[in-house]
Amino acid sequence: EYILEMTNIEKQFPGVKALDKANLMLKKGSVHALMGENGAGKSTLMKCLFGVYVEDAGEIKIDGKPVRFTNPKQALDNGVAMVHQELNQVLRRSVMENLWLGRFIKKGGFIDDKKCYEETKKIFEDLDIDVDPKTIIGELSVSQRQMVEIAKAVSYDAKILVLDEPTSSLTKEEVGHLFRIINRLRDRGVGMVYISHKMEEILEISDDVTIMRDGKWIATKSAKDITMDEIIKLMVGRDLTERFP
Ligand code: ADP
Ligand code: MG
Ligand code: MG
Repeated sequence: EYILEMTNIEKQFPGVKALDKANLMLKKGSVHALMGENGAGKSTLMKCLFGVYVEDAGEIKIDGKPVRFTNPKQALDNGVAMVHQELNQVLRRSVMENLWLGRFIKKGGFIDDKKCYEETKKIFEDLDIDVDPKTIIGELSVSQRQMVEIAKAVSYDAKILVLDEPTSSLTKEEVGHLFRIINRLRDRGVGMVYISHKMEEILEISDDVTIMRDGKWIATKSAKDITMDEIIKLMVGRDLTERFP
């Protein structure tokens, strides 16, 4: 029933043990929130899955089969897509060029502009995103650019989708839009890892919650059985309310 199993993942950077036996078990057709304070290792864990980093130790299984990706292309080819915390877009290029960067639709060795345009339009229509594919991406608002990144990740048709703080610059309305997209993907059986600090969002959209601290797995709970106070307590490692009885 697990589409993704990450167990005892370790990753050392010079001077920092970013991951120290981190775990994540993601069910098919579910949203799994990954929470922890800044520096807890959330992004690093997902970058190990996505092949940005290679873990020093531990095991990653997709559909029960061990995998070890050494670059993002391998991850994408194996059904894993990711929306990064940082927007990596070429600002002076069009939306559609950004969407197809690194995977150009070619016709006789040349990039097929017409096909890129049509495919981009189709993806945006399907996701209800109101952006002209020909717009220069740097002219969009940050939240529109974030929606384009989300559309790009969704367009890979991955079975595992990682969203690393996707709503950091979205309006409330746009968050609602994203949640409709997420719910549709969930119905299609996509497993999603959702990183956010926004507690209300987490409790609304996720099925399970994993809490990390100092690179370590701390707990995994069903989202309907956990409260905000419990999450905070697990995140910081002590009860903050104790001081205010
Ligand atoms: P989170 O996403 O939970 O905020 P990160 O995974 O970004 O945490 O970072 C975990 C730890 O690893 C932090 O101490 C961070 O400074 C460190 N770290 C992350 N990426 C690198 C890197 N490329 N080189 C060195 N240290 C890093
Ligand atoms: Mg962070
Ligand atoms: Mg992060």
